Amino acid sequence: MYRTHTCGELRIGDTGKTVTLAGWVQKSRKLGGMTFIDLRDRYGITQLVVEADAPADLVETATSLGREYVIQATGEVVERQSKNPKMATGEVEIRLSGINILNKSVTPPFTIEDESDGGEDIRAKYRYLDLRRNPLKEALTLRHRIAHETRNYLDSKGFMEIETPYLIKSTPEGARDFVVPSRMNPGQFYALPQSPQTFKQLLMVAGYDRYFQIVRCFRDEDLRADRQPEFTQIDCEMSFVEQEDVLGMFEGMMRTLFKNVLDVEIPSPLPRMSWFDAMDRYGSDKPDVRFGMEIHEITAMVQGKGFSVFDSAPYVGAICAQGCANYTRKQLDALTEWVKRPQVGAKGLVYIKMGEDGIKSSVDKFYTPEDLGAIAQNLGAKTGDLILILCGDKRKTQNQLGVLRLEMGGRLGLRNPKVFAPLWIVDFPLLEWDDETQRFYAMHHPFTAPKPEHMDLFYSNKKEDLEQVCANAYDFVLNGNELGGGSIRIHDAEVQKRMFEVLGIGAEEAQYKFGFIINAFQFGAPPHGGLAFGFDRVCALFGGSDSIRDYIAFPKNNQGRDVMIDSPSEIDQVQLDELQIDIKKN
Ligand code: ASP
Repeated sequence: MYRTHTCGELRIGDTGKTVTLAGWVQKSRKLGGMTFIDLRDRYGITQLVVEADAPADLVETATSLGREYVIQATGEVVERQSKNPKMATGEVEIRLSGINILNKSVTPPFTIEDESDGGEDIRAKYRYLDLRRNPLKEALTLRHRIAHETRNYLDSKGFMEIETPYLIKSTPEGARDFVVPSRMNPGQFYALPQSPQTFKQLLMVAGYDRYFQIVRCFRDEDLRADRQPEFTQIDCEMSFVEQEDVLGMFEGMMRTLFKNVLDVEIPSPLPRMSWFDAMDRYGSDKPDVRFGMEIHEITAMVQGKGFSVFDSAPYVGAICAQGCANYTRKQLDALTEWVKRPQVGAKGLVYIKMGEDGIKSSVDKFYTPEDLGAIAQNLGAKTGDLILILCGDKRKTQNQLGVLRLEMGGRLGLRNPKVFAPLWIVDFPLLEWDDETQRFYAMHHPFTAPKPEHMDLFYSNKKEDLEQVCANAYDFVLNGNELGGGSIRIHDAEVQKRMFEVLGIGAEEAQYKFGFIINAFQFGAPPHGGLAFGFDRVCALFGGSDSIRDYIAFPKNNQGRDVMIDSPSEIDQVQLDELQIDIKKN
């Protein structure tokens, strides 16, 4: 037996016991002839001590230990002279009678401490060492607990966990597919699933009316900060349900997770907001409702006063940043530059300062104090506040105001990661028009059903009609993040065909790409719907972080690389030949 206890286990009540521990040497130090060793494993740290009068070979072994050596140590649990209340095992130490070095370690490239001295790159390269550190251990422990609670909840509701294949055909979730060449079928490729969407729907056709899977998904997207090319979803589907059933089931799940993992109560029922409201009031389909600072449209109030920028804008909107009237000229200039960055994309910024000494704005030339006062009143602005105004195309400007709102909310400390404000966004438009390609795209995905009351519009050939079609689609939003989303699905082969037609996917192409699901719908597909949660992000937000990378054991970096195993990498000519693949050399 390698050990009788873990390094996090022993307490004052264990004094007098002879124990054996195994773990990694966190550090060792000599003090007045005695050697102290901090021994670490997943469960904690226990202090070991080799007395000055211990046998010489034991003292020598103790002295020879380097950081991260793996040892087995036997001795008696004794009460510590100087206790460490910060450590769970801080009241005891082990007076050693033997040390067995199980393995040596070279000096690690960074310190295995809560605050490591290693930079991000070196820690990524030695991820297995980074994972020895407490913050990452806690992150993975949290992830495990959330997975466990998720399975418990869904099992208790009759959901079956069913695996679906990874080597499949393209699933359209709006990103590019990762593809895998098939050696046995030269010139042909599998796609890795962007989600198990079509398979879970086929499981519904098969009669497994409550399905879930904690499943890896793959999307070859341009990597924005904090995106991973492979990520994990809690993927779920149910039959014989309406939107209400799905929302009820999964807010129940989130409520259970919040309660059991964080001991946090979330409102019941959860607030809901329509997509249109979210866009108008927060400039985002994933509003952070931990704070107000809502967007107000002031187009009518500012037009016709001679300010041509506003006069020619289809939309003018504003937010009120409380207590920011003391922004200096320099700060306002910097903020103007900030909104002009491509990431925000505004052309300029107009402000109104609600100063102690009266209202001042960057457009005083055009507006009387009464005009400005009326705008202030519309926004509920008080003395000391700062009103920020943007203008342009309606949705674009709302979006920019939304980004500015988040920035100001952050500056004002209104985005506390320990405060949780979940809500459902509902009533999404079914389709989104893309000017560039002159066609509609599915806002969620092409399997999402139009609302029954919008069926007539859905069969219209007019763009304006189709733009108005709403879907029974919903997103679970938390603190400005989309944590999950789903919809009631199309279960009628004819409606599905119409959907492909609306999306400009010809009958032949639809049959080639999605024939399997259209065919399946002919064999008694039940009404069904579901959703998927982004599991990595659920973990990160529960952990109070906005980086999912810390919650994934072996993540990729911003360039989609795993620097530890150095992947992606070239493959042998032999492999290429087997696959009948030639690499184009430019
Ligand atoms: N497959 C969808 C997604 O990955 C979720 C769903 O509609 O259930 O976003």
